[in-house]
Amino acid sequence: MYDRFIELLYYSIGDFPVSNAKLLRSAVYSGVHSMRRSIARIRGMGFILWQSRHMAYHVMLGLLWAWFLRELWGEFNLKWIWTAVIGSVLPDIDHFNYWLGYGRHDTYTQEVLAHLKKREWRMLFYVVATGHKLNTSLSYHNIYVVGILIALSAGASFYDWRIGVVLFGAMVTHYLFDIADDLVVLGEMNSNWKRWGRPR
Ligand SMILES: [Zn+2]
Repeated sequence: MYDRFIELLYYSIGDFPVSNAKLLRSAVYSGVHSMRRSIARIRGMGFILWQSRHMAYHVMLGLLWAWFLRELWGEFNLKWIWTAVIGSVLPDIDHFNYWLGYGRHDTYTQEVLAHLKKREWRMLFYVVATGHKLNTSLSYHNIYVVGILIALSAGASFYDWRIGVVLFGAMVTHYLFDIADDLVVLGEMNSNWKRWGRPR
């Protein structure tokens, strides 16, 4: 239902001359509130899993990276698989850093914490899944970190330190997917990508 809503939103803002991203942001904000009651009626794990699919894509990309390296090196190693999975989700520590640290007073964080306290798991996943795209305050989701990780990965490859190549490369796939996701969902890159550290 949420996807249907977003789909309709895309069609309706397609021809607007104003910034799609700005429009989408305000629409999602008001949408989150008006849909709250109907969403609350949806029950079951299925809903939570559906909202978690963004993370599933990250893990799949990490595994793809491990598979690519296995083809390249002609060697199978279970440790590389686990390292790729960990590396593919590791960058999202940034979110916890934000929720528990410098962003703890933001409305988005307050909503997340409120649902967590009341154990409203479905609402929690829904708010995180919709809200995390609008969080432009992340410190280390930026192109400089991506550059550093690409350099580290290349360096590890130069010294034939394979687990390093697996880890840093898997982290790079995370950021690249987030950037692509921004472009598809928002029509532009969130401001956090162009900035080092938290917003001032
Ligand atoms: Zn991320």
